[in-house]
Amino acid sequence: MCLQRLPAAARAVHTQLCYGGARIKPAGRQSGPSALAARRRAPYLEAMTATPAFLDTNRPDVPDIVVPRGVTPFHLPGRPVRGRLVRLGALAEALLGRHQNAYVVTQLAGQALALAAGLSSALKYRGSFSLQAKGDGPVAMLLADCTQEGALRGYARADADRMEALLADDPNPSAARLLGQGYLAFTVDQGGEMDRYQGIVSIEGESLSAMALHYFRTSEQLQYDVHLAAGQGTEGWRAAALILERVAGEGGIDPDLDSAAQDESWRTALTLAATLTDAELLDDTLLPDRLIWRLFGGEGAVLDRPRALAYGCRCSRAKLSSILGSFGDADLDEMAVDGDIVMTCEFCKWDFRFARQDVGRQG
Ligand SMILES: [Zn+2]
Repeated sequence: MCLQRLPAAARAVHTQLCYGGARIKPAGRQSGPSALAARRRAPYLEAMTATPAFLDTNRPDVPDIVVPRGVTPFHLPGRPVRGRLVRLGALAEALLGRHQNAYVVTQLAGQALALAAGLSSALKYRGSFSLQAKGDGPVAMLLADCTQEGALRGYARADADRMEALLADDPNPSAARLLGQGYLAFTVDQGGEMDRYQGIVSIEGESLSAMALHYFRTSEQLQYDVHLAAGQGTEGWRAAALILERVAGEGGIDPDLDSAAQDESWRTALTLAATLTDAELLDDTLLPDRLIWRLFGGEGAVLDRPRALAYGCRCSRAKLSSILGSFGDADLDEMAVDGDIVMTCEFCKWDFRFARQDVGRQG
């Protein structure tokens, strides 16, 4: 991917992303602990890489779910087309079901998760991919991120009163109405001391897939096709994506294929993808290879090695304790309610409770 290089801005937004996941209660005070947390980043970021998640006994009891074929990549041999089919399976329910949001908001969060999972699988190096949408609509924050290894997490935060008013006016509002005016940011974080790459565009389009296509067109000049679906069935929430990418350059393309023939094969792939229904995307009984074959079998689609997805929140008491350790006593006193400080992981909806006397700079 050729993301716009904005190291300083990227670092700023990355800080926001990290802290977007952990909030200190009570929230809502302008000069309160959340605002302070956003300015003091180092201890938490350091702690994020200090302990591998599987060794971290301070983690909450999060679902131990791995979807072995979460992402199925494929390509059309000789033609400038590759794609990924993303199926979150039971992981969708585990990630989405813990949030008390309106149906349409959960649907949007599910689509964002499927999109992030699909785009992270295209990373050519170790790292993680984040999608963040921030607007002035009832859904003030939409966030999804996925590591190259497939650790996926995300959430949508909506204002309950504004959602109620919107749903009274329009029972099935578009993503555009949910998010309002704002921006969409895609961030690639290579971890450690490596640079972060970020592209930011204004929110344009009615659906999340249209917004993503606007991003690819304006920020990366890449041709994509994105189909996203999320819904609640008998076995809970499911979310899925089909992402097609037009391969740039010569690699793997039949040398006999002139540019007109390449354009034609891309258009054919788009036409075939347009026949896909949400029901097909979300149907777990229709296995990924069968669905890809149903759509692109006539084009000789070849499946590439599937990728696993897993519940990917990296929150833990140790990390949050480390954040609290960066505050002064006056701030900690202000955060405490009845002798306790409660920090909530926004991804897991898990409250971490710390006794005031156990946190802070000792000595
Ligand atoms: Zn968490």
